[in-house]
Amino acid sequence: MNEMKLSFLSRLENEAFARTSVVAFLMPLNLTQEALMEVKTMLAEAVVNAMIHGYENTIGTINVSVAYDDTCIYMKIEDQGCGIEDIEQAMKPLYTSKEHLERSGMGMTIMQAFSDEFQVLSKPQGGTCVKITK
Ligand code: ATP
Ligand code: MG
Repeated sequence: MNEMKLSFLSRLENEAFARTSVVAFLMPLNLTQEALMEVKTMLAEAVVNAMIHGYENTIGTINVSVAYDDTCIYMKIEDQGCGIEDIEQAMKPLYTSKEHLERSGMGMTIMQAFSDEFQVLSKPQGGTCVKITK
């Protein structure tokens, strides 16, 4: 078992920081290109969601933790932002609360498709926690 934690501000440029840091941490696993791409994509979707939806482009803290053992990779992406009123609706393919920003509403669906287990914990004004197992 190995684990790391990252804490950074919700500035858009930090999405690349989070992605490259997690990739570096997972190097010892020698993941296939495909698996690595899926991990990066899931992380980026969750981090960008925290930035643009959770904090609505204001500045807050995003916490990421990544762990792995012999069988799985575990990722947790947390914000203390506005939270999600209806999680079931938010997880539906093509649902977006930001249509005017030309979001496609596919982030949650992509995370679900690329993961083995996918869980969203959230409540209005209580922040959001996305848990991914792969
Ligand atoms: P895309 O990811 O395709 O650019 P999107 O971000 O709108 O579009 P999803 O990632 O599937 O689509 O998210 C669906 C909806 O869930 C969002 O539009 C938003 O309303 C809500 N949501 C997702 N993550 C968060 C979060 N961290 N905090 C608050 N709301 C969120
Ligand atoms: Mg999204």
